[in-house]
Amino acid sequence: MTGSTDIVEGCDLQFQPPDRTPDQLDGLRVLVLGLGRHGGGTDLILFLVSHGATVSISEDAPEKQLATSLAKLEGIDLHRKTFGGHCSEDLDACDWVVVNPAIKPSTPFLEEIAARGLRAVTEMGLALSWLPSKHLAAITGTNGKSTTCVLAGRMLEESGKRVSVGGNLGGSLLAELDRPDPQRRYVVEISSFQAERLEQGGSRPRIVSVTNLSPDHLDWHGNESRYFAAKQRLLEPSKEVDAVAILPTGAPFGTGFSCPHRKVIRCGDEGESRQEDGVLSVSSPDGEKISIPYHPSLALEGPAGSMNALHAATIATHLGATVEGISHAIETFPGLPHRYQDLGEIDGVRFIDDSKATSPESASAALARSDAPVHWLCGGKPKGSDLVALADFARERNLHAYCFGAVQQQLYEALIQGGLGDDRLQRHPDLETAFAAALKCARTGEVVLLSPGFASFDQYSCFEERGDHFQQLVEGWNKSRAPSCAGDGGHR
Ligand code: ADP
Repeated sequence: MTGSTDIVEGCDLQFQPPDRTPDQLDGLRVLVLGLGRHGGGTDLILFLVSHGATVSISEDAPEKQLATSLAKLEGIDLHRKTFGGHCSEDLDACDWVVVNPAIKPSTPFLEEIAARGLRAVTEMGLALSWLPSKHLAAITGTNGKSTTCVLAGRMLEESGKRVSVGGNLGGSLLAELDRPDPQRRYVVEISSFQAERLEQGGSRPRIVSVTNLSPDHLDWHGNESRYFAAKQRLLEPSKEVDAVAILPTGAPFGTGFSCPHRKVIRCGDEGESRQEDGVLSVSSPDGEKISIPYHPSLALEGPAGSMNALHAATIATHLGATVEGISHAIETFPGLPHRYQDLGEIDGVRFIDDSKATSPESASAALARSDAPVHWLCGGKPKGSDLVALADFARERNLHAYCFGAVQQQLYEALIQGGLGDDRLQRHPDLETAFAAALKCARTGEVVLLSPGFASFDQYSCFEERGDHFQQLVEGWNKSRAPSCAGDGGHR
């Protein structure tokens, strides 16, 4: 791991902690750079305006693409609104600029903010500064963040605790500040984009979990060490004396991994928290081992599910969850949409939507979950990931691959080089044609799995839209089947 740096690649902008508390926002002039479509930006604006701040928006996207977000702001008095690009005048009378995590470091407007010496903050930086760090757990990592976050929240709820989950998962936790509750627990998911912009020396949660780490988003961060450094930034010291870092046992979390002033709890084989023979053995705050029966729901089956359950149980234990609450949440966890979501069987063929698998590692994890022959729909927009490990893994599985989207040729070549025979490989322009081809080949007892391994942005606005499209294709196929297909020589 390299040390973290305060400088975002491509510009000199330094992020800072807030110089005001929430009750000192009256009259503050704030420019929100990037409204976004996932609720974080709108929640932030509603919070700032309700506390008396004067808010302006500067958005790269055209107004019509932001209709849903803007609808949530109807009736809110915004000072200035700039769409389709950024405008220097928006910076003229401005105390804070809140930078949306999706704004790329290379965006020239960030240079201008830096040159003017304006205070740059982020919604996540504000939330971590203002929420009670004692009752706050943050989850980052390459895969499994959302699942672990929601599962930890359910474990706490099942234990009778009041809990709010949020962050990268959607929405903002800032609204929680308006209903102070000293007993409430907070579980927040933090992406690498959000982590990279946390100010050095700023407030950090008492509990930080890193689910796993493998190179991802290299097109955004520039290189692997910058991506890892972004994640490590969250592990900087907390002001809480009993701060913990919950990490996996594997690489790159070896003995040299630095978590100053945090007790380290490792999850996995040989770790302080581990899963063996149907029991989770979890390290508690006083170092005791707590045994929790482990009967995972379908959504938590397989090695990835068990790791997520271990992280969630260790987090929840440190926030006061009970054995019964944790165990019940594991048994009843329904999973999240588009994360290895079981869509059911049609004529003996199972359909699974894992559209959220946007990295090669998450696609490998999905392929590892079942021994059934798989028709694997894979592809999307490349993010600079190395495909060698995925190709090696695919060769060993009982699968046919249908590559689609912008990465199809590159992925096809990587899979061929990895040793997957071309009789088990196809290329297609898009998901729809790949799906049609998979349908032709799938037999009773087999699985059609969308686990793309790449971002959706080549052909969709987000992974949810891609997953919804897959679900529509499955539904359409179910409705359109002619009854005569049923006895088609054992083919389904
Ligand atoms: P994140 O929020 O980090 O993207 P999610 O919980 O939304 O993680 O899951 C994203 C994808 O990664 C899904 O396809 C899921 O099946 C897969 N996945 C979930 N947990 C893990 C894990 N521990 N290791 C590898 N892949 C995982």
